[in-house]
Amino acid sequence: MAVPPDPRLRDLPSVDRVLQQLEARGYLEGVPRPLAARCVRRVVEDARRRLLDGSAPAGWSAASVVEESARAVAWHAQVRLVRAVNATGIIIHTNLGRAPLSDAAQEAVRAALAGYTLLEVDPESGDRGSRQVHVEGLLEVLTGAEAGFVVNNNAAAVLLGLAALAAGRQVVVSRGELVEIGGAFRMPDVMAQSGARLVEVGTTNKTYLHDYERAITPETALLLKVHRSNFSMTGFVHEVGVGDLVALGTARGIPVMYDLGSGALVDVRTRNLPPEPTVQEAVAAGCALVTFSGDKLLGGPQAGVMVGRSDAVDRCRRHPLARAVRIDRLDLAALAATLRHYLSPEEAWREVPVLRMLAADPRELTDRALWLARRLRETLGDRATVTCISADAQVGGGALPGVALPSAAVLVRPRDGAADAWAARLRQRRPPVMVRIHEGGLLLNLRTILPDELPDVVDAFR
Ligand SMILES: *Cc1c(COP(=O)(O)O)cnc(C)c1O
Repeated sequence: MAVPPDPRLRDLPSVDRVLQQLEARGYLEGVPRPLAARCVRRVVEDARRRLLDGSAPAGWSAASVVEESARAVAWHAQVRLVRAVNATGIIIHTNLGRAPLSDAAQEAVRAALAGYTLLEVDPESGDRGSRQVHVEGLLEVLTGAEAGFVVNNNAAAVLLGLAALAAGRQVVVSRGELVEIGGAFRMPDVMAQSGARLVEVGTTNKTYLHDYERAITPETALLLKVHRSNFSMTGFVHEVGVGDLVALGTARGIPVMYDLGSGALVDVRTRNLPPEPTVQEAVAAGCALVTFSGDKLLGGPQAGVMVGRSDAVDRCRRHPLARAVRIDRLDLAALAATLRHYLSPEEAWREVPVLRMLAADPRELTDRALWLARRLRETLGDRATVTCISADAQVGGGALPGVALPSAAVLVRPRDGAADAWAARLRQRRPPVMVRIHEGGLLLNLRTILPDELPDVVDAFR
């Protein structure tokens, strides 16, 4: 016997019915049918739940299911990993893929993906080699370390380093350095997965050398330092420098591992920026292992770089987790090409987009802002007011926290007041343009817009 339909669901359309309506209105063009059906099913199920638990809005109608489905399907028709214009003024923007690659790094990726590649072959003997040969020499030369090894990302590098050097034993770390990175991931949780036991010392704002000293037991395998890369502390604060930590470790026969987070290979002070510890300094201080990201200040692809003493790096290399967090060939190609720029720091500042944006001259940015504002005024006529203003840009992505980089911006204020709707339409363009909303307008920050992208921005407003 059929169950009588629930009267509350009387108006709820079926998935097929919604798909037919979308089809009739042309919304399914270019969207694979199974993906469209999946979108619609979710919308219908959500409406069913809301109708049954009474949380559906007062004016609910079957039409809203169709509209919502259309929006969800449209997203699938559009979303691709295409190049996007970053007008947010945040240089290392994790949601936008962090670092744009240099021309040479892009070329290296294209060469590596064209077909097969000698990823793990010794060209002379034809024997199996290591994919690490493509970067280890560069890492040693650039950082002064005895050895280098790269993995999938820096979280993996930290995990592997701790697992290889301290699993089942104790790792001493300051409470002031237990950081949460993006996406609600906390480094202490990642570290705990290594099997090492974290021993927290000091307080949030102050940790002294004697705090580490007192925590050392026969069970201590490692002293860990973590760079506070995405926040800064001022006021009543004290931390132990890496040099002092290494001196303590050496005296007690305990290695030091340093998670630098961002990992600069150039001294940013040469471009009038506040100091950010360099990898070379961390290596020279005598750390057994230094880890950092490939796609933060380094300006390369997603990767986790490990450099340090041969014995420590070898233990990481041989650990079973090394295989689970292996770097892929495209990232490896891009990383090698990015590292090669750093053989000449001047070339790195010129070729690596993240560094170029960091060092950009505000006067040049102002010139570009004036050009863009002029073109946007021509394009938009009386639909918006367009003004040039000065604005700050940020490094983002866990580097140089709180540092405001003076920049120039164009503020577009729609006459219809619908800045959010305009921003949404810019996101749906090809290429998508990502802006910030500021004082009821769209703020386009020139520090993160690559010069060749300016015409794209003008087109997007057409
Ligand atoms: C960003 C960051 C990480 C994680 O690096 P990913 O490359 O994003 O995995 C770890 N530690 C610190 C201190 C960081 O800033």
